[in-house]
Amino acid sequence: MKIHVLPDEVASQIAAGEVVERPVSVVKELVENAIDAGARRISVRILGAGQQLIEVSDDGSGISDEDIELVIARHATSKLQKADDLFHIETLGFRGEAIASIASVSHFILTSRASGQESGARAVIDGGKLISIEKSGVPTGTVVSVKDLFYNTPARLKFLKREQTERQQIDGLITRYAMAYSNISFTLEQEGKPILRTSGNDDRREIIGQLYGSEFARQMLEVEFEDNDVEINGFISPISLTRSNRRELTFFVNGRWIQDVMLSSALLKAYQTFLMVGRYPVAILFIHLPPEDVDVNVHPTKAEIRFKHPDQMFALLQRAVRRGLLAFSPVPLVSVNTWKLDPEHEARQLDWNAHVIQPEPKSPAEISIMQEANGTPQTTGAMNLPGATIPLLRWVGQIGGTYLIAEAPDGLYLIDQHAAHERILFDKMTGQQGKMESQALLEPQVFQVPPQASRVLSESLEILNKLGFEVDEFGSNTYRVSAVPALFTGGDPAAVVRSVIEDCEEDETPLAGQMEAILAGRICKRMAVKGGQILATDEQKQLIRDLELCTSPRTCPHGRPTMIHLSVDLLERQFGRRGAR
Ligand code: ADP
Ligand code: MG
Repeated sequence: MKIHVLPDEVASQIAAGEVVERPVSVVKELVENAIDAGARRISVRILGAGQQLIEVSDDGSGISDEDIELVIARHATSKLQKADDLFHIETLGFRGEAIASIASVSHFILTSRASGQESGARAVIDGGKLISIEKSGVPTGTVVSVKDLFYNTPARLKFLKREQTERQQIDGLITRYAMAYSNISFTLEQEGKPILRTSGNDDRREIIGQLYGSEFARQMLEVEFEDNDVEINGFISPISLTRSNRRELTFFVNGRWIQDVMLSSALLKAYQTFLMVGRYPVAILFIHLPPEDVDVNVHPTKAEIRFKHPDQMFALLQRAVRRGLLAFSPVPLVSVNTWKLDPEHEARQLDWNAHVIQPEPKSPAEISIMQEANGTPQTTGAMNLPGATIPLLRWVGQIGGTYLIAEAPDGLYLIDQHAAHERILFDKMTGQQGKMESQALLEPQVFQVPPQASRVLSESLEILNKLGFEVDEFGSNTYRVSAVPALFTGGDPAAVVRSVIEDCEEDETPLAGQMEAILAGRICKRMAVKGGQILATDEQKQLIRDLELCTSPRTCPHGRPTMIHLSVDLLERQFGRRGAR
């Protein structure tokens, strides 16, 4: 093959792959352009999860009609003049790639009027080819409409995520920008439904309230920190307000939303010892430092940056967060220490030769005991599955308010009461034909969730209903819970519903068929007795009875073991009663 220079359209399409990977990346580029243009109002309209239409309108400075043709060319920018400028960038854009890239993979219409000009212009571009530029009577500002994204790059179309995922991403993006640019009024509409509207009055706490509910906003702690020319401010959650994932850690550096592992770990480090394992804070932090101390030209999407002094940044962020935490919340150091094992104890525990149950072939006698307990005859083969049943257990006692001790012909069993109860509830919930029994709340609870979570919740209402929760939509991003499963004991119903969906806001949302099991698993986790909870003897015995009836009594719905088995054989060997090997 002969070497040849690629036609401009092809080069643009290749570049487009880097800048605009998916609909949400287009939204990001267009919103950033509007911000750079000094807009006070930015409206975003989405159809077909962004594949059909992405329209961003702003009231910014606009583009003069002489420039409009240039804008469509690659590497055309008003924000950068010489290579040197790259080291002190104060705008969000600078590469001059976005518009050209987006226009090369869509039906693209740009309408704009520069401030001070009599009229504006409207340019139509199809797949990177300029079709027309006409004068147009429009208000000052810019409207960019992107239709049929990726229509001419079918390979890319195939790799797009589910529509629901894409919509969530767009919600999340606009939400964060609305927070970061609280002096700009943002409007987001998806599929004809208003999702978000902020006033632009510069009150971030008010926006948090709009997004997460006023109770949440009231609890968030403010961070205000300055050290030489670095400024860190924003909001962090108190240690009582946690999430089960780290997706709610947001960082803006010099007005740019970035993903940065170093910043996340500095933040988590500041919370260390305050939070339980597997729980994460919520934070949105805005860092300002001199532009020359950060390299923003690392990747075409500009979502990654490089700090000139990463170690210093790490230390500063940790200090800022720590200070924010200590200033506002009394730290329960005592309780943290109570749960820490002393090193000696820990060492001893490791020595302890306990092993998690590995189902072993059973003697015929044991099998018949199990069959009795289970009520159904089973084949020996089934015994070897990880889900195999357990022998009849004799209750012995409870230790540490956390583990139950039981004995069986084959040795000693230590049962984690929380994990075991989770399994029992899960089997009851999912084994039920039709709807779970509910109990009505005396006073229905109304609560608010962020737009992303709202989408998941509204699609899960039917499943929640089947599981015994009565939840209905009560307004935009607002819900009402009026009944809970009959099995439900204590706890705050609204908090349970919220925590049950918070994990689903993820990229890889499960298939519809799995959703019920996932939600049921989470609900059971919340409802199960906790470790550290003293149970009455009757309750302990009942728990063991119920566990014996489960189809997979040895693991909780999340796959953790519910019990540890110390076999007769193991005990005898440990005590030197039988030839220790
Ligand atoms: P960059 O933002 O990196 O400069 P873009 O391709 O995103 O590159 O935009 C090219 C140029 O088009 C910008 O530099 C700016 O001059 C102009 N432009 C794009 N969008 C807008 C807008 N909403 N308002 C005013 N000017 C805009
Ligand atoms: Mg740009």
